[in-house]
Formats: sequence, structure tokens, C-alpha cells
Amino acid sequence: MARSYVHEARRRGLGRRRERIGPIVERLAREHSDATIALRFRNDVELLISVMLSAQTTDVNVNRVTESLFEKYRRPEDYLSVPVEELERDVFATGFYRQKAKSIRGAMRVLLEEFDGEVPRRLDDLLRLPGVARKTANVVAAELGHAQGIVVDTHVRRLSQRLGLTRNDDPVKIERDLQRIVPPADWARFPHLLIWHGRRVCDARRPRCVECVLADLCPSARPWPDAARAIAATAGSDPGGV
Ligand code: SF4
Repeated sequence: MARSYVHEARRRGLGRRRERIGPIVERLAREHSDATIALRFRNDVELLISVMLSAQTTDVNVNRVTESLFEKYRRPEDYLSVPVEELERDVFATGFYRQKAKSIRGAMRVLLEEFDGEVPRRLDDLLRLPGVARKTANVVAAELGHAQGIVVDTHVRRLSQRLGLTRNDDPVKIERDLQRIVPPADWARFPHLLIWHGRRVCDARRPRCVECVLADLCPSARPWPDAARAIAATAGSDPGGV
């Protein structure tokens, strides 16, 4: 299990998770008002394909590949009308191209057979598509305006742990912890805010705590800022559990 900052938040007198989550979302929303999905797509099917291709690679790389891919493949049927080797070549640069081509074809087949070629909104339906795991389903549902969970990627996991919002390391358990404290209305934008904050400020190796807007709310801030010390001093010793 990852080091838990939940206890450290109590020790520093930063308040409970439920109390900190509001200001955390508010400040991040102000700081990263441009935080949205970085993948480029023009419709629901392109969104689904982009997210499927984004496994184990960068969004920039996916966008480079889909620029020509989406010109060639315009409808779900198009992905099934070419030999699989051709689709493999077309998605080669995203890595894991054999598995991705197979998953895309499987997903397009189910879309056509069971959903009239439309991308479903329900998480359970999305999870029936071959190659669509929980993270992909959550991203697609959220972008379609029907968030039913919280996307947990590497940035969301790291920041949730550093901010003392979870004690867990497993993405499914982290998602469950976040769902308990993040208001449902923020489920779609919350991961984007953490992802952009992770990229811009809370780097995996070198978090820039001194310029972070969350420093006085964050139990892993280094050095612990004066503002946080002052808050803790007036809050008393231990404000209680989470
Ligand atoms: S204070 Fe530091 S560790 Fe905490 S969220 Fe900000 S950059 Fe990350």
C-alpha cells in the first residue's frame, strides 16, 4: 500500500477529507480553467476510439495518429471493412497495435449489433464493449455528459494519495474513496483538474509545492508552508477522523 497522507493531514490539522475537498476543487478550477480532455475527436465514436487508443501512450501521440485515421474510417462499419492487418498498420504508432486493432473491431461489431451503431451512455453497456475497461468507460461516459464514476489514471492516483484523499493504491478502491467525498456534479471535471495539476505543478518526481495553490490543504506539501502551520496552530491538535 502507498504511504498514507490521510493520517498526516490529521497530524497537521488540515481538516477532514470532506472539509478539504470543496476548497481543493474550487482552487483547482480557478487555476486550471482550461482543464479538459486533450484527445481530439468530432463525434461519439471518435471519442471512444481515441480513448481506447490512449492506453499506454500519450494523448499527443493519439491525436497524431487519429488525425489521418478518422479521415479514413468515418463510421463503425469502416473499421470492419478492412483486413485486420490494415487497421493494425493504421494504429501501429500508438503501441500495442495488435490488441488495440482487435479491441476496436470487437467494439465496433458490438456497437453495430447491439446499439444501432451508437455509443451507449450507461457504464454497464460501455463495459460490454470488447477492450473497454472501467477507466475507458468512465472517460467516455463523462465526456458524453453522463459521468457515473471518477476516472483514476496515474495522475489522479498520485494526487489523491498526496492530498490524503485516499489510503489506497488500487484504482477501483481509490475511485470508491473519491466518490464518497467528491460531489457527483464534479465527477466529470475532477479528474481533469487533477491531471492538469499533476502535469503542471504536482510532478511525479519534483512537485513544485512552493507555487502550489493547494499547499496549505496538502499533507505532503514540502516544505510545509507558513500558512498551513498557522491554520494548524489555530485548529488545535487533532481535528478528528476522516
Ligand atoms: S502541495 Fe506539493 S504535493 Fe501537494 S498537491 Fe501541491 S505540489 Fe502536490
